[in-house]
Amino acid sequence: MEENILEIFSSIQGEGKYIGARQAFIRFADCNIRCRFCDTRFQPADCCQIETLPGTGVYEKLPNPLSVKEVAKRIRAFVKPVQHHSISLTGGEPLLHARFIRALASEVKAPLFLETNGTLYEEMERLLDVVTYVSMDIKLPSSTGKPLWEAHERFLCLLRGHDAYVKIVVAENTEEEELQQAVQLIANTIPQMLLVLQPVTPFGGLRAPSAGKLLRLQAQAARTLPEVRVIPQAHRMMGLL
Ligand code: SF4
Repeated sequence: MEENILEIFSSIQGEGKYIGARQAFIRFADCNIRCRFCDTRFQPADCCQIETLPGTGVYEKLPNPLSVKEVAKRIRAFVKPVQHHSISLTGGEPLLHARFIRALASEVKAPLFLETNGTLYEEMERLLDVVTYVSMDIKLPSSTGKPLWEAHERFLCLLRGHDAYVKIVVAENTEEEELQQAVQLIANTIPQMLLVLQPVTPFGGLRAPSAGKLLRLQAQAARTLPEVRVIPQAHRMMGLL
């Protein structure tokens, strides 16, 4: 089995509940939605940039698609000399590559950490037994241009009993009504779920929320959910991938 992969590298998790954890990252090509703030380069995916040794920043290029065995071999070369918390499956949208992920799970020992836009619930259901951690985004209509509530609700229902949290990227134009709809969706499905509000890294004309706006949004969400944290993208502050 083969897939188009953009990057394989070792770094720290820069977002959410497991911020600071050392991870091996596999960045898959393609996504099923288009967020206004997305900075992932999807094209061309003709080759994959692979860090040769963990943390060195030295890369080589391999032509796509890559086989499961090749990717597993690269990941094993990372986790052998340096202890890694988990393998981050990121993108793009990794669940577009569910069959590849299932095959990869049987080739590597480290736990799998899925970073997903929280819409492909059928694929998520098929991978629940091989993914240890789930970082699920809820995408607000102001970010995507269209509501995704039904898909998010079906996805969220699958995460009961899983080590998971929800992340919402917020910008200066985030509306309180849409955030409240997301918060209510979480509260109705998994009331104890951790919610991370992530201020957008300015991109594509979107402005980062002011400090006052961030605090208002956090206070609003915390009226309904027990744990709401504001966490920016830390890897960018340190110049890491
Ligand atoms: S879901 Fe993620 S990868 Fe897809 S467009 Fe949005 S930010 Fe980019």
